[in-house]
Amino acid sequence: MQQDTFKHKGMRQRLITELREKGISDEAVLGAIGSIPRHCFLDSVFDTRAYQDVAFPIGEGQTISRPLTVARQSMLVEIFPGAKVLEVGTGSGYQSLVLDRLGAEVYSIERQRNLYMKTKLLLADFNSAVHCFYGDGYQGLPQYAPFDRILVTCGAAAFPTELFAQLKVGGIMVIPLGSPTQVMTKVVRKTDTEMEVTEHGDFSFVPMLSRKSN
Ligand code: SAH
Repeated sequence: MQQDTFKHKGMRQRLITELREKGISDEAVLGAIGSIPRHCFLDSVFDTRAYQDVAFPIGEGQTISRPLTVARQSMLVEIFPGAKVLEVGTGSGYQSLVLDRLGAEVYSIERQRNLYMKTKLLLADFNSAVHCFYGDGYQGLPQYAPFDRILVTCGAAAFPTELFAQLKVGGIMVIPLGSPTQVMTKVVRKTDTEMEVTEHGDFSFVPMLSRKSN
């Protein structure tokens, strides 16, 4: 793993200031982002830019979300210590580690085999308890359901009813819905069949694709 130098820590502090200026006020979320060396989740060519508030390619045509998006999603999903969380789209593992550092028990699923294998090893290096799975997030992880929280980090063209079925009553799902761009959507499961839906701005994610890929 790449070293976390004094210079990286300085850049990270500036990112936290920038996120505050952009309206992020949740201290737990800022604390988690402030504690994680984002440059370790990126190719070393991005080393000096890793703490800019931008998305970067992570291979396989995928991207790590920009820090502002990670912060917004992490706030919206209202993590509490011990929450059992399903993340769809492990990608670089950065968001998974943010959830882990917020105290969640994270189950993360990724459809790209190479990303799954690489990220599983990286997250283990961070001494995290994230459980990584290779599979199709549209199916969720019925064997580990129900979940307190579900966080989807790719853009879903259609509402995934399978995932809603794996959410506890009282649970929260945060999901970017739409194609080609998405509206950040928060779904609170009120009863077995009822939900309360609120919308939280426009975003642009890589698409949520069905079936796992090699
Ligand atoms: N949370 C990630 C974001 C990565 S981008 C991070 O912090 O880096 C979204 C990821 O979702 C990509 O890696 C993509 O391969 C994955 N993805 C897309 N459709 C999926 C599906 N149906 N199931 C699981 N993962 C999916």
